[in-house]
Amino acid sequence: MNPVVVVGGGLSGLAAAVSLSSRRIPVLLLEQRKSPGGRAYSFVDESTGTVIDNGQHVLIAGYSRTMEFLGTIGARGLVAVQPVPELLFHHPVRGFCSFRLPLLPSPLHFLAGVVTTGLFSPADKLRMLRAGFALRSSRPVEGTGETVESWLDSLGQSPETKRSFWEPLAVAVMNEHLETASAVVFIRALRTAFLSGARGSALAIPTVGLNELYVDPARAYIERCGGVVRCSADVTGSVAEGGKISGIRLKEGETIGCSAVILAVPSYRAAGLLPDALRESGFLACASSIPLSPIVSVHLWFRGDVMPQDVLGVVGRRIQWVFNRRKISREKGEGGHLSVVISAARAFVGMENDELARIALEDLRSVFGAVIGDATHAVVIREKRATISCAPDVEPLRPGSITPLPNLFIAGDWTGTGYPATIEGAVMSGQHCADLAAGLTGGIAGGAA
Ligand SMILES: Cc1cc2nc3c(=O)[nH]c(=O)nc-3n(C[C@H](O)[C@H](O)[C@H](O)COP(=O)(O)OP(=O)(O)OC[C@H]3O[C@@H](n4cnc5c(N)ncnc54)[C@H](O)[C@@H]3O)c2cc1C
Repeated sequence: MNPVVVVGGGLSGLAAAVSLSSRRIPVLLLEQRKSPGGRAYSFVDESTGTVIDNGQHVLIAGYSRTMEFLGTIGARGLVAVQPVPELLFHHPVRGFCSFRLPLLPSPLHFLAGVVTTGLFSPADKLRMLRAGFALRSSRPVEGTGETVESWLDSLGQSPETKRSFWEPLAVAVMNEHLETASAVVFIRALRTAFLSGARGSALAIPTVGLNELYVDPARAYIERCGGVVRCSADVTGSVAEGGKISGIRLKEGETIGCSAVILAVPSYRAAGLLPDALRESGFLACASSIPLSPIVSVHLWFRGDVMPQDVLGVVGRRIQWVFNRRKISREKGEGGHLSVVISAARAFVGMENDELARIALEDLRSVFGAVIGDATHAVVIREKRATISCAPDVEPLRPGSITPLPNLFIAGDWTGTGYPATIEGAVMSGQHCADLAAGLTGGIAGGAA
């Protein structure tokens, strides 16, 4: 029996291949690069010998599909979940402020979090409670074109609540600013985070590099089940016969037979890999025009430990979130290592490395003062195509998993999952495509390796 071919070894492709493998369905994963991982990978920084990620990735406990995926591949213990959900911010005037959601039934936990935080004035606390209740009662309506900013304005949110709370949250979840991000998608993501149980919004942070967290374990799981992961395999197209996809073409000229195909490549690659007739019919033509949003990460090393906190949201500065790698990861070494993130980074992505490191240091000094000396080493990573831009007019362009060919499916964080372009969306879409392909092949459900 020909295998189900998964094209692309990012989170969605690996999740699809793991799900198929768990049902003992023969699978072949083809990845263009030397190693799987896609937009979420780690590598060794030669100067320090530290394993660093291409960008800090954060999950929440409510990402149920991702947690299930990590459980299947035996990596669930490699993320540290906060015992009590808490976001810590530094506000330019109010200083360090915690937003802590005690383990009470929803929405009481949100109410308690708003009442007890020092982040808001009393008037803003009332505004936040209003938004919290709206989040609970509103059902996202597709196609309204509403941005997060206009939704917040309709709920009477002040400029200060937008700046101190909503903007840091929007850039983290949506990789977009309030005035651009889709309200429907944001509301859906927040409902998962804040209303899916008291622990749902707890941060779940990888304690190891992303390759060790999920790339290597997923590959090992697939191979243990008899599947094949083939890297440096550049797919250039596919072949359809009798109304079905029958083969995948590689750059070297080889054509591989398949029972079904899951295309798990980025939005701007998918249309080019369709069989000629399907591509010429215009299917997925708009996928390549979906706008993308960059993320800039600056890793900084210091002589000493410069930050007591694990994770910090930085309000009203250019940097947005700071991660204390020495505390949150199992990495060894002397001194401090911070990972500083600027999401929705269009204004920054074109800057020189020195300039970006200078901005990160300046903003860190505005929080921690002179304890932030010169960095002993800096690494800047620009992901120019980090995610799609989850704007309201992008939603209609995100395709479903099903295509006109009954054995061809589309996966990826950019597809129409209803969620922002996140790990959870990628895993969800990969698993959904695996279910559809398994339905065709009559694979056995369950049966872990
Ligand atoms: C810096 C950064 C920070 C992020 N932070 C977070 C976060 O904190 N939380 C969160 O939930 N999400 C985060 N994300 C988003 C998350 O990384 C993505 O949603 C996820 O990795 C997307 O996975 P994917 O499988 O859909 O796509 P991809 O990872 O892009 O995988 C597609 C794969 O297809 C391969 N491919 C492409 N063309 C071909 C071809 N012709 N032949 C064979 N293979 C091909 C590519 O090489 C790639 O491996 C972040 C992303 C970035 C870049």
